[in-house]
Amino acid sequence: MAEIRLDQVTKAFGAVTAVDDVSLEIADGEFLVLVGPSGCGKSTLLRMIAGLEEVSGGEIWIGDRDVTDLAPRSRDIAMVFQTYALYPHMTVRQNMGYGLKARRTPKPEIARRVAEVAELLGLADLLERRPAQLSGGQRQRVAMGRAIVRQPQAFLLDEPLSNLDAKLRVGMRASLAQLHQRLGVTTVYVTHDQTEAMTLGQRVAVMRDGRILQCDRPQALYGRPNNLFIAAFIGSPAMNLVEGTVEGDTVHFGQYRVPITKRPDAARVVVGIRPESFEDAAFAPGMPTIQVRVEVLEELGSDAHVFFHVDAPPMTAEVLETASEEGLLATDRALFTARVDARTGARVGGTLELAVDPASFHFFDLGTGARFEAAASPALAAR
Ligand code: ATP
Repeated sequence: MAEIRLDQVTKAFGAVTAVDDVSLEIADGEFLVLVGPSGCGKSTLLRMIAGLEEVSGGEIWIGDRDVTDLAPRSRDIAMVFQTYALYPHMTVRQNMGYGLKARRTPKPEIARRVAEVAELLGLADLLERRPAQLSGGQRQRVAMGRAIVRQPQAFLLDEPLSNLDAKLRVGMRASLAQLHQRLGVTTVYVTHDQTEAMTLGQRVAVMRDGRILQCDRPQALYGRPNNLFIAAFIGSPAMNLVEGTVEGDTVHFGQYRVPITKRPDAARVVVGIRPESFEDAAFAPGMPTIQVRVEVLEELGSDAHVFFHVDAPPMTAEVLETASEEGLLATDRALFTARVDARTGARVGGTLELAVDPASFHFFDLGTGARFEAAASPALAAR
């Protein structure tokens, strides 16, 4: 086990800067997730830690060794890819032991470790099968097993679950978390799926255009996203985002205004409201309320999603095009999502009184996307 330290790591492919001056410390035993949209540089960063990609600048340390110029096999890490790359002509046992055999580990030691890890992963009964005789989830576990038997200092996982169907993915996600708890090996995990990132990561680094925008505990990313991109990217259903204007000590958006106690420099802002900041007023007595017309109702059993219009332009910056098309239409009226109690009396076409706490609103500078603390007071009014 070891900590991993990236110091101003950069990677350029010709004119494309895939990873741009990234510094990051991953603690010994930590589970860190790299997440971001396609092309943001997360795989390149992982491959640089693995040694599969040379750095253009910066240093990479694993434990107390500078591994920047070391070959992959000398770095003492194990990588698991999206495509499991199992040897088709070998049995599960042979696949799992192959890395140890290549390193000339004594046969009894290989047998012992393979048996132990097979037990841990529930593969003990499948050791004589070949990959073609396994399900996707089982193959994935063999790929994990092959990495674990090597007892590396760190695991590097690149979208290891993305070839599995949705239900299996949820199950494997839980197994991975459990496995990490038991083994405690430093793990860097790449995914473009924010749910996977939030559920697995002890810390999550959100990447965009080769840079890390924010690296934080999941609760902090969700509760205090430091810019608009992260606000739009983290959370499902996505945060409602609309343009607003600052006039005096008030932010106006659509037909609403909300008093703030701290003025930003910007005159044009983006107001962000999480779907769960709303509630059917019948279940949230004593809160400020707004009246909305219910456009769409999705009853999910555990809760319900109510869609309604706000007469303000939805955030149209490219951030929303790349990160979340969900919940927003190409119009100057924003379609908001409210997540409310499943017992809601909401009916499509009817009006609904929604409770909402303005203290939970997020505010961003429209120009830079940076978050600012505006401390909205607990009052929201129709204009
Ligand atoms: P995805 O989720 O789609 O795999 P990613 O976030 O992992 O995306 P990378 O694969 O790291 O992104 O790619 C980052 C950028 O570097 C992209 O613009 C990509 O086109 C570019 N890139 C990656 N590998 C190469 C290469 N071998 N040659 C040239 N450009 C590359």
